[in-house]
Amino acid sequence: MAPSEDPDAESRANPADVQADVQADASREPSQSDATTVCPRCGGMTNDDGVCAACAPQLQPPPRQALYRLARFARPRLGLILWGTALMVLSTAAGLVPPYIIGPFYDQVLEPLDAGKRVPTGLAAWYLGWLGGAAVAAWLLSWARNDALCRASELISADLRNHTYAHLQRLSLEFFGGQRTGDLISRVSSDTDRICSFLSADALDFITDALLILCTAGLLVWINPPLAIVTLAPLIPIAWLVQKLRGRLRHGFARGTTAWGDMVSVLADTIPGIRVVKAFAQESREVERFARANQVVLDANNRVNRLWSFFGPLVTFLTECGGLVIWGCGVWLIVRGDVRVAVLLQFVAYIGRFYTRLESMSRILASTQRAGAAAHRIFEILDRQPSVPEPTSPRDPGRLAGAVELRGVRFRYGKREVLHGIDLRIEPGEMLGLVGASGAGKSTLVNLVCRFYDVSHGAILADGVDIREYPVEAYRRNIGIVLQEPFLFYGTIAENIAYGRPDASREEIVAAARAAHAHAFILRLPDGYDSLVGERGQALSGGERQRISIARALLTDPRILILDEATSAVDTETEREIQAALDTLVQGRTTIAIAHRLSTLRKANRIAVVAAGELVEIGPHDELLARQGAYFRLHQAQMKLANQIGIG
Ligand code: ATP
Repeated sequence: MAPSEDPDAESRANPADVQADVQADASREPSQSDATTVCPRCGGMTNDDGVCAACAPQLQPPPRQALYRLARFARPRLGLILWGTALMVLSTAAGLVPPYIIGPFYDQVLEPLDAGKRVPTGLAAWYLGWLGGAAVAAWLLSWARNDALCRASELISADLRNHTYAHLQRLSLEFFGGQRTGDLISRVSSDTDRICSFLSADALDFITDALLILCTAGLLVWINPPLAIVTLAPLIPIAWLVQKLRGRLRHGFARGTTAWGDMVSVLADTIPGIRVVKAFAQESREVERFARANQVVLDANNRVNRLWSFFGPLVTFLTECGGLVIWGCGVWLIVRGDVRVAVLLQFVAYIGRFYTRLESMSRILASTQRAGAAAHRIFEILDRQPSVPEPTSPRDPGRLAGAVELRGVRFRYGKREVLHGIDLRIEPGEMLGLVGASGAGKSTLVNLVCRFYDVSHGAILADGVDIREYPVEAYRRNIGIVLQEPFLFYGTIAENIAYGRPDASREEIVAAARAAHAHAFILRLPDGYDSLVGERGQALSGGERQRISIARALLTDPRILILDEATSAVDTETEREIQAALDTLVQGRTTIAIAHRLSTLRKANRIAVVAAGELVEIGPHDELLARQGAYFRLHQAQMKLANQIGIG
């Protein structure tokens, strides 16, 4: 039998063994060692300077200005903020009225009563009316103020979350390669939440407190300067302490938020991989791993709490000392005749509020530093620019004919070059098979065609135009991808098929599913096209998921199609069905199909063999066999293995 006559025999060959043969063809070894390109912290890629882009900013102490940068997000809500601030000033002023009234109330009502004189009832009622009125006004104004400012802070946080998520979506694959999913989730969710609670509660309190403290201090100085100086004295040691503590708290919280992100990363790692954990009976090890990450969070939080538990009571102690000094000085000044009792009562009423505000303001120090650390982590994302930039003068790709050309394409991951100058032209409608050993660079090559990364040297042209001149989204609309491990989103079958074209009608979805040989199994599901597929399509088999992903690609009607090992993870029967679906899909489209099993490439017009980042052979199947080069050896090896299995 001629080597090419038994495609099924080829499909039974073990690709891994065959790859070893082609690996032997690799004449060139990568010039750099892996060790220099992998970050020891997160396992991501390091850049040319040996710095991991993902971790480098985290290792720096968070800068102070992160919180101020949030102002940009506050600008669209300025009207609401100004309205809330005006209400805040009014409510603060209303809060200052009662202590002030205590002075004249004592002079005109309490003291005469104490001396046995008659006081008009109207006068007493008038003062009590003022006290009650001020309390009601302060309550209503505070209510309106809280409502306005809380709304503003929720809106700011929602904007921040949307903006961060939208920015994440724009970032290139290179960025995600160096990140841990859990850490990113933690930044978009927990960190924005910390900022929200800071803005809605603590920042609000901080401004109110600061306003009250300033106004009270002004009033006290106006009423009696010497007594005011004594009252304000504790401010100096408190300010000194705050200054000392701020930096340490900021670092403590930065450590805490990073530890939290690491802990969420463990969850994001193990929950989707729970089958592997169970299959290898590694539950206890994973529990320990989580406990270790949790311990780091605990240690970081404990360190901050230790600092904090020292600072809070110290401020309370200082303010209580201040209160004692006021009483002492006040009595001494009354005895000397320098101060009247009414003034001392006013002071005592004011300092109660003053010191309470001072204590609450010092508590805000912690949440400010925590929110600052969270804001810093968010700006680390926002400051990243996509490594696949949009063109400055974009050209509309429209609907491409589908000619793809690689000219002297070189590509490096970090320092390590993995493609060493590839020249290749694929005609519109042609199907090119891409084969080669594992790690040869096949996926990298198609990633470059999809513009998930940009070439390091050379260019990739689509219809004769450098793909970097097309807007990324418009270009990708011309591309369809079917991966070895199709990814389905939580939702219905219909939603998953229509993922690339949410506006598709039910008829179009059904037509795509029919063409992808998926219609029959979909109808067997309890809710047909409206059946939920579960997270990542868990409710479906691998072959079913694959056919859904083929239907998804069909519906977008791409001009350039990438098939990355689309049939490798299924049994022979399912493979036949998928192959039939793929045959429909590839019609009339430029197709690049990566395959380890050569049998899956029987419809390919040409086959390109990649070895160690170089294109070593290209041509039609029969021609390559006749050449007796790398492809021939690959083919022979698969045949041999298939025959061995057959004999066995
Ligand atoms: P396979 O057939 O096993 O999928 P492949 O031929 O598709 O392999 P690529 O995935 O393109 O090979 O990988 C080419 C080389 O680049 C490999 O040595 C791989 O380790 C390296 N590589 C791939 N992706 C990355 C990445 N994100 N960061 C760093 N190196 C990478």
